[in-house]
Amino acid sequence: MTLKLKDTFSDIRDFTPFDKSEVKMYTCGPTVYDYVTIGNLRAFITSDILKKSIKYLGYKTFHVMNITDVGHLLGDLEDTEDKLEKSSRIQNKTVWEVAQFYSDYFFDAIKKVNVDVPDVVVKATDTINEQIAMIHLLDEKGYVYKTETGVYFDVSKFKDYSKLAKRDLNEQFAGVRDKVVLDKTKKSQWDFRLWQTEYPNHQMQWDSPWGKGFPGWHIECSSIIHKFIGNSVDIHTGGIDLIFPHHTNEIVQSKSAFGEPFVNFWVHNNFINIDGAKISKSLNNGYKIEDLENRGFNPISLRYLYMIAHYSSVINFTFDSLSSAQEALDKIYMYLKINKGFYNKKASVDPVYKAKFISAIENNIDTPSMLKVLWEVFKDEGLNKNIPVKIATLLDFDKVFGFNFINYISEDKLPADILKLFEDRIVARKNKDWVLSDELRDKIVSKGYLVIDTGSDTILIKS
Ligand SMILES: [Zn+2]
Repeated sequence: MTLKLKDTFSDIRDFTPFDKSEVKMYTCGPTVYDYVTIGNLRAFITSDILKKSIKYLGYKTFHVMNITDVGHLLGDLEDTEDKLEKSSRIQNKTVWEVAQFYSDYFFDAIKKVNVDVPDVVVKATDTINEQIAMIHLLDEKGYVYKTETGVYFDVSKFKDYSKLAKRDLNEQFAGVRDKVVLDKTKKSQWDFRLWQTEYPNHQMQWDSPWGKGFPGWHIECSSIIHKFIGNSVDIHTGGIDLIFPHHTNEIVQSKSAFGEPFVNFWVHNNFINIDGAKISKSLNNGYKIEDLENRGFNPISLRYLYMIAHYSSVINFTFDSLSSAQEALDKIYMYLKINKGFYNKKASVDPVYKAKFISAIENNIDTPSMLKVLWEVFKDEGLNKNIPVKIATLLDFDKVFGFNFINYISEDKLPADILKLFEDRIVARKNKDWVLSDELRDKIVSKGYLVIDTGSDTILIKS
């Protein structure tokens, strides 16, 4: 049995890591100029499930992620504005404050959906020297040229760029709009920026051999990978929207600078729609995690909902489908709460179901089939005669699912002051006093506990 994984740039293949002792993963992290939405979270939930699956199969993992806190221009064009600088101008904060605020928000949000923080998290602004060194190396090898406004990668120097990008280079670059002015000294509109100069009002600026400025977006991921992982990565993940130009250009510059191979498997998750429409500012449908919590949902139900579909399919998010996901999870939570007396750490995992579960994982992380096995275990009447084995099997699968099953059987004694706040909140909810109920929840959370409203019940657990 071997894990079969789909690589975006080739096909489904047997997965073998470069170094058998450790699978090296890289995930494109958030651009911290705005709140992370439930749409963005799909990428991080996908990479987390992939990592937990790989661990479940017996591998050790080493996972690196960047934080894009500089250089994310709206387009590869002269008169566009860096997204962080734009937020800074609108919010009247420094770019550093904006980046810190949304970065903190991001880590709070991923914690709520049980996404483990990668082993190494690197801010783009902490690797400026490495990015400059990499551009320098590309320059020495003859891949770059300088214009009036920056340093560009010359895509004509990379064999088969058009094939890799799946673009006809004689056509207009898709991002070009009529009203904006191109850098006229750029050789081709497909050439991408490595270093930007001539932005005197930009708050983030560094000295470089090409003048004062800041790096382009793509170069940060290639430099961070090289510094923290090396020349070759087993798995690189990200949303499908990053395939071109971001990941295409990562491949081009990394291979040009450091040679082959670069990434063995590219894993891209598909989009989510909200009520059948794309997430957009105009529809105001870019829901955040607290929009779900304020409607009484347990954030983990989002994780469940995303697993109902394979990561490579589009998901249509609705609050009805989230309700169904939560109801499904609540059934298992209730079962575990009621039967926690049967929990036995030494109980064995059912071997037949475990084998089925593993083969679902090995089939390109087939989460719908993995959930199917979970429900087969849950509904197996025969296993009800051996509840410790049933519970052990559910907990074993949860190493991949991350639904927090263990919290529902834990025997922790709750402190009296926390219980008092919890009981007061139940009364407040009965009286429909939502303001007081929210205040009490915040107090409980600040003391390190979580309150989960399941719809039919309210549960208090240690966070
Ligand atoms: Zn990236």
